[in-house]
Amino acid sequence: RTGIVLFTRDLRVHDHPALATSCAAFDRVVPLYVLDPALAQLSPNRTRFLHQSLAALRAALRGLGGDLVLRHGDPVAETIRLAGEVGAEGIALSADVSRYAERRATRLRAECERHRLHLRFFPGLTVVDPGALRPTGGDHYRVFSPYHRAWSAHRWRDELGPPARVTLPAQVPVGRLPAVPAGDSPEAVPGGEDEAWRRLTTWLPAVPHYGDRHDDLAGDGTSRLSPYLRFGCLSPLTVANRADRDSPFVRQLCWRDFYHQVTAAFPDISRRAYRRGATEHWRYADDTLAAWQQGRTGLPIVDAGMRQLRAQGWLHNRARLITAGYLTKTMGLDWRDGVAVYFRWLLDGDVANNSGNWQWVAGTGNDTRPYRGFNPIRQAERYDPDGAYVRRWVPELATVPGAAVHQPWRLPTALRRTLDYPSPLEVPGPEPVWLR
Ligand code: FAD
Repeated sequence: RTGIVLFTRDLRVHDHPALATSCAAFDRVVPLYVLDPALAQLSPNRTRFLHQSLAALRAALRGLGGDLVLRHGDPVAETIRLAGEVGAEGIALSADVSRYAERRATRLRAECERHRLHLRFFPGLTVVDPGALRPTGGDHYRVFSPYHRAWSAHRWRDELGPPARVTLPAQVPVGRLPAVPAGDSPEAVPGGEDEAWRRLTTWLPAVPHYGDRHDDLAGDGTSRLSPYLRFGCLSPLTVANRADRDSPFVRQLCWRDFYHQVTAAFPDISRRAYRRGATEHWRYADDTLAAWQQGRTGLPIVDAGMRQLRAQGWLHNRARLITAGYLTKTMGLDWRDGVAVYFRWLLDGDVANNSGNWQWVAGTGNDTRPYRGFNPIRQAERYDPDGAYVRRWVPELATVPGAAVHQPWRLPTALRRTLDYPSPLEVPGPEPVWLR
């Protein structure tokens, strides 16, 4: 008996319920990845990371006696075609929540019914399945704190090891690995499950300091595991199990699950305001948007953030809050424009977390205080008190000492003239209620 495991954004062999169960249930298992040309152009950074992760996955599967079969085209059509070629009885994959994933699942269901194939969805993309926790009278949690309480108290599934062995049917053409293209960001980290484990192991001793250090922009006190979680090079359960469940670090992982369950209930999250009745009066100003995107707004903390994004394909969470708040609350531009720019650059860019967080910042999401905003200068003084983060990413200001770097327009005129750095943009954005 033969089964197919369709890999999507779960590119690992450890704690992979669809793979582990299929290897136990079938004599032969075909691990499959379909390169969908519709997704290939979305982000050169992520395409690079994906191809590296596929190479690592193939090596890991070969180590278990199997291989990774690669196909190009529409994932549903290719999976069904391969099922015919190898005489598969069943198809297994990890359940996912985006609109794209929902359409893929619907089409797979219909095709499997037509071809009398058994189709089964497995957990694995989140710690707790979206939909497993429901508040009284609702289908999903709209507010984080009660979700976090239920999530922490919930019995998580058992973490699984890699399968002992993966046996391919004879004579399946496995296909060549795609070449690893150049990304856009010179300092982007490499993909792959082994790389993910290396990072996890290096990171774990720092978890007890996370609460004190995670907001320090220059200190870099966060795990940087997000790209590996995005592509499933690590299972979120594996990460969560290795730290104290009550720790601020594991609480942050819960935000990831939170936005997945929001997206499962509201798959239009990247397009429409989540909160009913949210006010949406955005301006359209291409030059302002372009200045923000390129890190040339003249507000150093915002420019530093946008330049880190472009250089690393990753951005510190505090810098995401500041740059996103500046776009929506100060410049008054549409959060969907911000989503699109982030989505192009971020290695960890995904529908649920990107749009969920953008909507939270823009005040159209689940936040209970939609009219508040971050004062970027106060944020800079608080989270980059010495200005080291700005000086690192905005070299034009490298000679400005200490916190003075946050407001170059206040420097003596003679000094300011020596700096090749723009004056702040004029932004007629609405004046929000500033929070510190
Ligand atoms: P750590 O601080 O080490 O946290 C551990 C893990 O918890 C992260 O890897 C991530 O998986 C999860 N996590 C942490 N914070 C959040 C959060 N606020 N929401 C959801 N999950 C969280 N995260 C993404 O993974 N993809 C995105 O596309 C994304 N877009 C964002 C857009 C905006 C406007 C904002 C404000 C935040 C966004 N985030 C996104 C959330 C967060 O900024 C990143 O997950 C985090 O910075 C990744 O760095 P890290 O791995 O070092 O995080």
